[in-house]
Amino acid sequence: MKLLVVLLALLLVFCVTLLLVNRWYARRFMRWITDPATNPMPEMPAAWGLAAAYTRRALGREQALANESAARLDTLLAALDVLPAGIVLLDNEGRILFCNAVAASHFELDPARDRGQHIVHLVRDPAFVAWCEQVSNAPLELTCHADAPAKSIRLVAQRQPYGDDCSLLLFTDVTAQRQTEAMRRDFVANVSHEIRTPLTVLAGFVETLQSLDLSHDEQARYLGLMAQQTVRMQSLVADLLTLSRLEGSPLPGMNERVNLHELTTQCAAEAHTLSMLLYGADAQQIEIETAPGFDLAGSSAELRSAMSNLLANAVRYSGSKGKISARWSRESNHGARFEVIDNGPGIAPEHLLRLTERFYRVDRSRTRHAQGEDGTGLGLSITRHVTERHGGTLQIVSAPGQGSRFMLIFPQARVLAE
Ligand code: ADP
Repeated sequence: MKLLVVLLALLLVFCVTLLLVNRWYARRFMRWITDPATNPMPEMPAAWGLAAAYTRRALGREQALANESAARLDTLLAALDVLPAGIVLLDNEGRILFCNAVAASHFELDPARDRGQHIVHLVRDPAFVAWCEQVSNAPLELTCHADAPAKSIRLVAQRQPYGDDCSLLLFTDVTAQRQTEAMRRDFVANVSHEIRTPLTVLAGFVETLQSLDLSHDEQARYLGLMAQQTVRMQSLVADLLTLSRLEGSPLPGMNERVNLHELTTQCAAEAHTLSMLLYGADAQQIEIETAPGFDLAGSSAELRSAMSNLLANAVRYSGSKGKISARWSRESNHGARFEVIDNGPGIAPEHLLRLTERFYRVDRSRTRHAQGEDGTGLGLSITRHVTERHGGTLQIVSAPGQGSRFMLIFPQARVLAE
């Protein structure tokens, strides 16, 4: 009986010890498993050791998977960040999950600081706020001024739902497209206006000739005026064709050698003829140096149109008895320059920057009074285009009452020794 009690006591002591040892291992295991990154894996016997080893292997696999997913997410976000369009990812309540660099610059967002913020609290354009609140996925066009207050950007916003009621907002910059559309509209309006005027005049004369019994002299006068209008339309169409050819053709190569002596001689003859035609006995005094001593690489036809535009303008705008001079010279940086100088009325500074715009004229009434020689407003635009196609620049120096100096400046690469 006594022996049984001793055995039971020993068994009890053994069980309690086993329990305590197990608890101690369990605590070590739990301490490790709750923070395996900072606690080393404890050395444990038998089943505990096995459990720890299996757990460690499973944890390792999980960790590797998590690392891989994080790396993939980082790559994906880095790719979204370099997209040329703005991207914003929103959660189901419209809070920012991610915004890329372009969207951040459009709306002055800070990708890290603004994560978790409601987008409508940061982009406060009323149209955008209303669009965010509506269910429709129709795109929205909005203006933002973030980059530079003076420079507004036109954006098209599109929304694409994804995942668990989240949405992706895509912002595309359509500023250049809208500008091109506006330019095209202006261009068509300008061309229509330029053509409508002579057509209206022509229609009026035709009606007069049809309805009135005119004398031979009167008929001849009307026909002369009609011929003037057709010439005006012809020059407009010719200039438009030149512009479209310039825009559609490849840049002038370096293989064609333009004989500047020949070209300048031809342009000088044209200028003399035009001056005689316009002013008769009061024709201007024109001095053109026709032997530059070097040639240019480029397109002879294009350079001819640029040079003769400048000379024709000098003749038309400097009036009778004006003085015109033109010459080629070398620049100090070894480039070349063609300049046309006149002592005409000159041009006010506010017009200088706009002179090369298509259809821009300083004073339409003065243009019209230039002895029936009506300009198209395209000449300087063509001249600048040609010069730039040859790598050069068109420079204008002029002031009211002090005449004008138009210069075509070409780079050294285009200059060929004679
Ligand atoms: P246009 O066909 O009207 O001459 P251009 O593009 O050649 O068109 O010239 C634009 C405008 O620049 C002209 O309408 C004229 O007002 C002004 N201009 C050009 N050349 C001269 C000049 N030498 N002197 C004064 N004004 C000039």
